[in-house]
Amino acid sequence: MERKKNYFAGPSVMPVEVLEKLRDQMVEYNGQGLSMIEASHRGGMFEDMYDECLALFKELLGISDEYDVYFLGGGATLQFTMIPMNFLRPGTVADYIRSGTWANKAADDAALLGNVHYYYDGKANKYTTLPDAKTVKPSKDSSYLYLCSNETIGGIEWQDWPDTGSVPLIADMSSDIFSRPVPVDKFSMIYGGVQKNLGPAGATFIIMKKSMLERQNSNLTAYMDYSLHSKEKGLYNTPPVFSIWAVKLVLEWIKANGGTAGMQQRAIEKSKLIYDVIDSSSFFHSPVDPAFRSKMNLVFRLPSEELEEKFLGEAKKQGMLGLKGHRSVGGLRASLYNALPVEDVVALAQFMKEFERKNG
Ligand code: PMP
Repeated sequence: MERKKNYFAGPSVMPVEVLEKLRDQMVEYNGQGLSMIEASHRGGMFEDMYDECLALFKELLGISDEYDVYFLGGGATLQFTMIPMNFLRPGTVADYIRSGTWANKAADDAALLGNVHYYYDGKANKYTTLPDAKTVKPSKDSSYLYLCSNETIGGIEWQDWPDTGSVPLIADMSSDIFSRPVPVDKFSMIYGGVQKNLGPAGATFIIMKKSMLERQNSNLTAYMDYSLHSKEKGLYNTPPVFSIWAVKLVLEWIKANGGTAGMQQRAIEKSKLIYDVIDSSSFFHSPVDPAFRSKMNLVFRLPSEELEEKFLGEAKKQGMLGLKGHRSVGGLRASLYNALPVEDVVALAQFMKEFERKNG
């Protein structure tokens, strides 16, 4: 089978070695006479695998014992509600940085539950840039400051982190987690869906500073209560077993390929291949401030929408999928997640140059 070149933004490409391991162990897991997805989450088979998964997750990101790590269901979107429910205390504000679609959705949900202050709103520049991290300061009575590390649709990514002092910093890292080392100790909470760099959709990872739980609001229903999830390690109810199993295999793949530093190196090399084509051309155009452009989701435009349609059609004929920009913004987008082989990025760069030669 010839695998397609997969530039989808999520769900997205997985390491082929991981897919093969899942296939090989789907019917029988490690000679145990049943599949991982047929076993109780209260039994040793799942629990051993889960413990290894969490240990590897912590090891690869260098997460200290001051944090709990676990997985929930509900997508990253559920966290847009859970965060303000738990941490936006009455009589205070929460600072949100409106950097694009995903931070804005989180901010809009929080605003339904309490007082929200928009530290920054990129509306005027169409969400093509970010504030300088050094200048970001939370408001006086802030419960937390919230940002999205990588806007998957807008194609902008924080390169540095604000210092928020005693105010907790919370980040959605759905689309760039494990693409680079992260100074976790600067954050009180980091979370994200796994369906980009970590595995099949279904699980949301939560990295929660234990001391953050002292700041919780009361009267939370069970599933909304982070303390309960910390206590139960994410196993209060049935976890997304298949997704977690696959994440564990992806983490092993990341470890074997140089960990987060190795992934960062790959991301720098791969994104440069495409940005070099864009920067050396007057045909392709990136709408994004070069200081903040994403290494995961590269957005670009052609001189007309007709040419963009033609580009997508010809790319598809060459087995290149997922290059259409998000329906809310149009244009083109190539997602170059960890698992996308370098050769597939080289092929895209060549295709772009060839397309420009014929149509420029
Ligand atoms: N945050 C970011 C940065 C995302 O890219 C997405 C999904 N593309 C979400 C949140 C929402 O994730 P989910 O669909 O898992 O709820």
